[in-house]
Amino acid sequence: MYTIAKVIVDVPSRETDRPFDYLIPESMRDWIEVGSRVAVPFGRRTVQGFVISLEHESSLDRSRMKKIQELLDHLPPLPPDLVELAEWMSREYACSTISSLQAMIPSALKGKAERYISYAEPDERPEGESEGSVEDGTGTEGLFSLSLLQPAEESEIIEYVKAAGPVTFTHLDARYPGRGAMIKGLMKRGVLTESQAIKDKLRIKTVKTVSAAVAGEEAEEALASFTAQARRQREVLAFLLEVQIPIGMQELLTTLGVTAGTVKKLAEKGFAVIEDVEVFRDPYKDRRFKPTAPLTLTPEQQVAFDHIAGRLDSHEHGVFLLHGVTGSGKTEVYLQAIQRCISEGRQAIVLVPEISLTPQMVERFKGRFGDKVAVLHSRLSGGERYDEWRKIREGKVEVAVGARSAVFAPFPNLGLIVMDEEHETSYKQEETPKYHARNVSVRRAAQHDAVVILGSATPSLESYHAARSQASDDFAPVLLEMKMRPAGSELPVVRIVDMREELKDGNRSMFSRDLHQGIVARMERGEQTVLFLNRRGFSTFVMCRTCGYVAGCPECDISLTYHQKSNNLRCHYCGYSEPAPSVCPECGSEHIRYFGTGTQRVEGELAKLFPGIRVIRMDVDTTVEKGSHEKLLNAFREKKADVLLGTQMVAKGLDFPDVTLVGVIAADSSLNFPDFRAAEKTFQLLTQVAGRAGRHHLPGEVFVQSYTPDHYSIIHASRHDYLSFVRDELKHRRTLGYPPYCRLILVTMTHENLQILVRMAENFVSDLRGKAQQKGWFGGLDRFTSDAFDILGPIASPIPRIKNRYRFQCMVKYRGAMDAVQLVRDVSNLTLEHLKDASLQISIDVDPQMLM
Ligand code: ADP
Ligand code: ZN
Ligand code: ZN
Repeated sequence: MYTIAKVIVDVPSRETDRPFDYLIPESMRDWIEVGSRVAVPFGRRTVQGFVISLEHESSLDRSRMKKIQELLDHLPPLPPDLVELAEWMSREYACSTISSLQAMIPSALKGKAERYISYAEPDERPEGESEGSVEDGTGTEGLFSLSLLQPAEESEIIEYVKAAGPVTFTHLDARYPGRGAMIKGLMKRGVLTESQAIKDKLRIKTVKTVSAAVAGEEAEEALASFTAQARRQREVLAFLLEVQIPIGMQELLTTLGVTAGTVKKLAEKGFAVIEDVEVFRDPYKDRRFKPTAPLTLTPEQQVAFDHIAGRLDSHEHGVFLLHGVTGSGKTEVYLQAIQRCISEGRQAIVLVPEISLTPQMVERFKGRFGDKVAVLHSRLSGGERYDEWRKIREGKVEVAVGARSAVFAPFPNLGLIVMDEEHETSYKQEETPKYHARNVSVRRAAQHDAVVILGSATPSLESYHAARSQASDDFAPVLLEMKMRPAGSELPVVRIVDMREELKDGNRSMFSRDLHQGIVARMERGEQTVLFLNRRGFSTFVMCRTCGYVAGCPECDISLTYHQKSNNLRCHYCGYSEPAPSVCPECGSEHIRYFGTGTQRVEGELAKLFPGIRVIRMDVDTTVEKGSHEKLLNAFREKKADVLLGTQMVAKGLDFPDVTLVGVIAADSSLNFPDFRAAEKTFQLLTQVAGRAGRHHLPGEVFVQSYTPDHYSIIHASRHDYLSFVRDELKHRRTLGYPPYCRLILVTMTHENLQILVRMAENFVSDLRGKAQQKGWFGGLDRFTSDAFDILGPIASPIPRIKNRYRFQCMVKYRGAMDAVQLVRDVSNLTLEHLKDASLQISIDVDPQMLM
């Protein structure tokens, strides 16, 4: 029997990021497990914690160790494999163990300590306390003496707490307003005591149900026993006997038109039982999903499926990269792989980008697997999310579909993780813990000898490179390719429109003549158009509208960002800066300005240029409300609009039969984003958007408007040529030393005072450099040696100040098996300890996706 538990406490600080030893009280020893959530005393507080291991011995003195105060759930929220995964995540992403553990449970279980007040029996009170109250146990506590000894209200409060059990301070304060001092007095005298306990944000929802408590002969007797006055009770019992199963109290009352009192009396007689039964809040309860049957696979699908099924059957860990053009039927492969997995008694997780958690995606999984599917995403209410999660934990479902964090779905016997659109940036969490769901999936699958399928029409260069070279340290997926569309439809024709020519010919509008005519033709034919505004974050680069010239950094090959205040251009990576030009350095044109167009402006233009046009705008502003996403898409499907205009949101997973035209307003705005992945993101977006057109019987047409029509990402996307794109892009990455040829760690330091921050950041970088040199890590990334390590910066962050805190960053690039993350973490901890400056914060982002 274990007597010691190592507990990670929910106290967010560097010093507490280690396990603490607690004694397990006798009564809990049968129940406590690795992964149990507990309440423990910590300093003067009670805090929530997670048990990460159970021990017989501790290096600490038992008499000085504290006891676990409470076990918070009878089923631990985390199975042991997730606890182990959390510890791995904390090392891999340089974050605290508690933040990893918290990321794995629904927010409903993020309990906080509440203060409770309870009544203390006289013998429980500290000795020597003056009492003088009715509770001295002298046996004189009649109402009379009571009112003599103390004001009535004090006794009232005592009696109330005595009867109600532990109550929160807030509750008591609300019940007896203005009696704070009196309550305090009672606490001072020890009559009332204070304790802390963890309270969950949300409770399990229950409903009252009623069922018959008698059967057979007993029931006959019971029915015969009612008097004429108890006619209604008899009716209820007869009904309960007839339905045989427990029925909701509310339903019973409305069906029979009886009162709750009648049912209660029946229960008091022992003929019926009233029980609280747990219910699951089901976000999809009012929706019917059309059941679908497996399709006969095409030869390409069959080959892919056979590979996957082989690994599933042999219970071997394996990672597959399923590269299939849009509409090649990847989803059908996922569905059949899941079917195979669950028929073998294991469970499956399907990860989709948050943005594509549209009803269409959910429908495909619910349609095939019905009630076996739980859905987890951020648009559910806290309660709904909690209940979907409980269905997984309690083994009531076999498939979990969800965004990033669904990778932590606590299945006991995981067999398969599918990651659709594996290239999506939303798989990287931007807050602590800054994990990438792809890496976590691979790790988790390895724990379970399970299979991972990474699917995409445009795989990330990291995954594709790893599959091709089979040399990655982390994973080397098996590449599976699907090049055809089973439905037989062709990929749409993509035409690049040179916007410089438009300007030359006097067209100053944001729509080219071709796109303009295309929209008009669709309106006339009753077909639909999707307009896509390629916009990521704030795009403030400077471009010449005459020749397409974009100001770029001479060192880093990314576009410079325009800073309005200082009217200069700056590189977000190396800090290079130059004054903003007033004429184009290439062609001398004055049409050079900073660029950035919003959806609202496009909407306005549309109304002006196309009289009577009906537009649905979909962006972060119009989709705040729950369900709005769905509503807008339904309206578009029902052809209540000619045009669907939007950002990234319209690019993915949507499938409308009457969309025959897709227009990309400005392909360049993502291309010139200050990010070494800009070309990759542009290629991916254009491919995705183009895949929206002509998916059914009507052929599709795509116009891509650009000021840099010769860019390889735009040309290859227009030809649906992923391989050529990869070839060109890998060349760039290799030359410049970016992933997949190295890994990155972004360190951001913030402080209220700029001068202090600059000094600290410089010290940090030189410390890091010194330590790396001691280890002999330094080697140029440009020399293609197998091991390499380099530090760029420190420079001001792209967003140099947030909430009055200045931000500086440095970027570590490395290649090889060295533990660079640990070194960065150590130096960061040393810096924080050494400086003891409370204002300084250091954040570490491993494999960053956003370089802000
Ligand atoms: P992807 O996920 O690769 O973009 P989808 O799974 O959406 O592709 O498939 C595109 C279309 O092809 C869907 O309408 C789907 O029902 C259909 N489809 C997929 N597999 C088959 C098949 N084996 N036979 C017939 N139709 C199929
Ligand atoms: Zn120019
Ligand atoms: Zn630069």
